[in-house]
Amino acid sequence: MTILISACLLGLPCRYDGASKPCADVETLRKRHTLIPFCPECMGGLPTPREPAEIVEDRVVNRAGRDVTEEYRRGAEGALVLCRMYGCDCAVLKEKSPSCGHGKIYDGTFTGTLTDGDGITASLLLANGIPVYGESDIPWLPEKHTAIPFTKMHGIGNDYVYIDQITGSPVEDMAALAVEMSARRFSVGSDGVIFVCPPEDPDNHGRMRMFNADGSEGAMCGNGIRCVGKFLYDHGYVPEGCHVIRVETLTRVKTLTLRLEDGQCTGAAVDMGQAVFDPAKIPVQWPGERMVSEPVTIAGKEWRITAVSMGNPHAVVFTDAPDSLSLEELGPFFEHHPLFPDRVNTEFVRVTDRTHLEMRVWERGSGETFACGTGACAAVAAAVLCGYCDAGVPVLVKLRGGVLTVTVSEDWQITMEGPAETVFTGVWEVKNMK
Ligand code: SF4
Repeated sequence: MTILISACLLGLPCRYDGASKPCADVETLRKRHTLIPFCPECMGGLPTPREPAEIVEDRVVNRAGRDVTEEYRRGAEGALVLCRMYGCDCAVLKEKSPSCGHGKIYDGTFTGTLTDGDGITASLLLANGIPVYGESDIPWLPEKHTAIPFTKMHGIGNDYVYIDQITGSPVEDMAALAVEMSARRFSVGSDGVIFVCPPEDPDNHGRMRMFNADGSEGAMCGNGIRCVGKFLYDHGYVPEGCHVIRVETLTRVKTLTLRLEDGQCTGAAVDMGQAVFDPAKIPVQWPGERMVSEPVTIAGKEWRITAVSMGNPHAVVFTDAPDSLSLEELGPFFEHHPLFPDRVNTEFVRVTDRTHLEMRVWERGSGETFACGTGACAAVAAAVLCGYCDAGVPVLVKLRGGVLTVTVSEDWQITMEGPAETVFTGVWEVKNMK
């Protein structure tokens, strides 16, 4: 493992009184792992020796009464930068310190009294999914860290777990982890897991690998990629001042224009590429040049299917009452229909008027989801193809989880715009890792 460690535990004289706090157990740690020494208070610009300080409510104040919160925060941010730069699996920090302490810290009275809480650095690392231990935990530290920080995010209810593979520890079996974490009610619960990886082309900003809840790998998810854009922005992987980024997917590179409000990324417009109707490329086993509103009997009823690829296959069905359908029963018949050798996502769409659609979606590998970005694009492309909507005019698509705005150009290039939100962050304890 690579471990960020309080420099004073290694014997460096960086404490407030100019002393160190060497810890014998650190020597065993040094033999087995790579240690990155760090003192956040020195990094924050404080001199050694210095006045001792403690946390008083939300500020850090030294014994002379001076507010040193900014220096402590600067040091904490430096620790986070180092953890990301070196891919630290965890941090071992000096206990009780107002910077490094975790669980118990001095209570702000300068009387040696402890209270529950975390130091400024420990707190920031934990908030960013980096496990923090104290020196007394060293004998019990795992040989290989088995905790994976994750972020749960959603784009209008299409929810995925996002895992950093740019600086985070590599996940060996992504498909198995996706199955384990996605299980509703028994686990984190999600439509799948998206791994945010380094780009293969350094001119791009990131690469997404998406695994559905059943462990199958998906090519692309329109709602997921907006969240990937937010994830890259929030984790500092987007250069300052840049709001147009490129993300590699299994099929092609997508360009995202991030929506920034008060310095926060709240969503994105995604260049979704071109809708494809060629049956061989979708793939759908259909003899003509395009499958447009063709009657097919599925589950004992005739449906009119328009087949579209948005990098993944879609069957779009226009119907007057999508809300009345039992997708639990119908969805698997469409998904596994022999017309679609790679299975298919199915959109059940009602045309409200020329600029508004309503739809429900059955996603292959995941079942009915609250939203499917590529599905919304496929629905609007099919609606333009069938004459229900117009090219070049934004169409608002209402899904169960919210609204997406989709514009189809004359040459079938598609732009999709919508929100991206973080729900919570956490750390996943891996049970089966070697
Ligand atoms: Fe040690 Fe942390 Fe204090 Fe620096 S800030 S002296 S590393 S406890």
